[in-house]
Amino acid sequence: IHKAFHGLYPAPQQLRCQALSGVEAPRWNDHDRPEEFNFASHILDYWTQMEKEGKKGPEPAFWWVNSQGDEVKWSFSDLTDLTRRAANVFTQTCGLQQGDNLALILPRVPEWWLVTIGCLRTGVVFIPGTSQLKAKDILYRLQMSGAKAIVTTDTLAPEVDSVASECPALKAKLLVSDHSHEGWLDFRSLIKSASPDHTCIKSKTEDPMVIFFTSGTTGYPKMAKHSHGLALRSCLLSCRKLLQLKTSDVLWCLSDPGWILAIVGCLLEPWASGCTLFVHRLTQFDPKVIVQVLFKYPITQTIAAPGVYRMILQQKFTNLRFPTLEHCSTGGEALLPEELEQWRKHTGLLLHEVYGQSETGITCGVLRGMKLKLGSMGKTISPFDIQIIDDKGHILPPNTEGYIGIRIKPSRPTGLFMYYENNPEKTAEVECGDFYNTGDRATMDEEGYIWFLGRGDDVINASGYRIGPVEVENALAEHPAVAESAVVSSPDSTRGEVVKAFIVLNSQFLSHDKEQLIKELQQHVKSVTAPYKYPRKVEFVTELPKTITGKIKRKELRKKEFGQM
Ligand code: ATP
Ligand code: MG
Repeated sequence: IHKAFHGLYPAPQQLRCQALSGVEAPRWNDHDRPEEFNFASHILDYWTQMEKEGKKGPEPAFWWVNSQGDEVKWSFSDLTDLTRRAANVFTQTCGLQQGDNLALILPRVPEWWLVTIGCLRTGVVFIPGTSQLKAKDILYRLQMSGAKAIVTTDTLAPEVDSVASECPALKAKLLVSDHSHEGWLDFRSLIKSASPDHTCIKSKTEDPMVIFFTSGTTGYPKMAKHSHGLALRSCLLSCRKLLQLKTSDVLWCLSDPGWILAIVGCLLEPWASGCTLFVHRLTQFDPKVIVQVLFKYPITQTIAAPGVYRMILQQKFTNLRFPTLEHCSTGGEALLPEELEQWRKHTGLLLHEVYGQSETGITCGVLRGMKLKLGSMGKTISPFDIQIIDDKGHILPPNTEGYIGIRIKPSRPTGLFMYYENNPEKTAEVECGDFYNTGDRATMDEEGYIWFLGRGDDVINASGYRIGPVEVENALAEHPAVAESAVVSSPDSTRGEVVKAFIVLNSQFLSHDKEQLIKELQQHVKSVTAPYKYPRKVEFVTELPKTITGKIKRKELRKKEFGQM
């Protein structure tokens, strides 16, 4: 299983992919397990070398803008220089060592990339978090992880200070700001004065690299710890087939910097192929700004949660034919087929769905150019072997509902998390026979296409019928009155459980007769999908409970329902 490391420079001939500019990106076969891997030295410094030898085109590696007209453009050489400085700040100024944990809570500012890559170079394990965190959330994260350092901004520094005394492990506080702040190190000036000479650690592929806190959709966030294998995974042949990025591409991934999708989409994916990563500071998801940006800059690919595309569609812009955009990807929550159809109608582009978790990175997806089946999340991306399993880990036949399982025996695939930090019980709990059990329910057809039904707990069992909330939500989405909905199970004295829909109405429908509207919506669902799925109970609400990621907390709604019994 553990094949010999092929050596990096040069990579084996057959593995080299011809980029447009003529430069070849380092690649590995899906089942290669190099003993050592570090994305900073093996990939970023490789592109820097190509730049120096005049073998790479002039496109920047990093292109950052904000709404005030500021712009930052870095070549790979700039990135190498700046991140070596960051590495020196961590080891020399902060005294951090390989394996130490660092909490990284920054908005989309250029320093985020200096910190992440600086960590790669030193082996400091970084823990991204969204800037929407509050003192209590930060305390939870610092205590759980025992982080020795934190990097954040002015806005969050007081929140950190209010809990720092309860975090004995925390010894270095780094601030990214134009102002100084007492008790905090000034990251920007430290970068300026640090030496650009640094030798990247020789990390083992299995050494820890990053910890992601899960979204906490179903409870307290868990710490999924990943090795450098997560970064190696983006360099595997199969993974490059997902987006098929060329050095001339300009990729804009809108994920919040706190999630795994940001590491994959704003760092690993673009730079594994040497293309330009585009970043807009985007303090909030303003659909007008997003649309303007797509018209103004030569962006060729986007990655964003379904909710972002949904927000754009809801604005009813007259023109969504973007001049350079070619390929759109989405993931993190279910993409409703109705949204895909609308996006296609207005932009002429498809939405390519991917599915993954903090524990797994992208596990399956609709690869660029692959036949699309409406409603499916695409096919497994090697080296993962996804099977639909029962709760004992037995593989189920095609078109049978079960858990999405990723094979971990006889060997754990590159890119799957190592374990939940400090939580062997939880780590053991998700092992199911030869598989890691994602806890999500789905079916797989004979061609290997995977169809998401819902989280294990979210699937509704009504009179023996098993109903995925997403199917009902999609049916509701097709009705003009529905802005958004969440479908959950609700107790019923005669039927046991029934389908209940919480619905946020579009403003034009707020004054409509509610009884009438409920009947109409029920009728509508019965007419577009199997009638047994229709919501017997409907409740109109002004908003749905969501995580900071923007995911609907169905569990909360369900608990409320059952608590009422
Ligand atoms: P927690 O594990 O703490 O409850 P979480 O599972 O929401 O939180 P994440 O790891 O951020 O935390 O999210 C992964 C989950 O998001 C998946 O398990 C799945 O339920 C959902 N998800 C991701 N992509 C898709 C998709 N394309 N379609 C449907 N659901 C998706
Ligand atoms: Mg989860």
